[in-house]
Amino acid sequence: MPMTSPQLKIGSPSPCGCRVTREDDDNGAVRIVYCRTHGAAFDVLAALQTSAKLLERVLSTATLPATEQNGVETTRAAVVKTIHEAVDSYGYQVA
Ligand SMILES: [Zn+2]
Repeated sequence: MPMTSPQLKIGSPSPCGCRVTREDDDNGAVRIVYCRTHGAAFDVLAALQTSAKLLERVLSTATLPATEQNGVETTRAAVVKTIHEAVDSYGYQVA
C-alpha cells in the first residue's frame, strides 16, 4: 500500500536532514537536498532501474540455457518488484 509522501517546506528540514532550498540564481528554482541515507537510497534505486533494463535486454536478445534463463527472469522479477516498492514508499512533496 503506497504511503503518503511527506511534505518538505523551505527552511523546515525533515527529521532525517532532507531539506528544500531555493537556488541563489535568477531563476530561484526549488531543489530538494537529500540527507545521506535518502541520497544513497535514490542511488540504489537508480542502479536497480539500470539493472532491470539490462536484464530485460538480456532476456530479449540472448539465447541462454533454460536454467540461466530462469535465473535471469527470477532476478529481473525481484528487481522490478523492489523498484515498485521503493517508488511507492519514497519521495517528498514540496509544499
Ligand atoms: Zn532524508
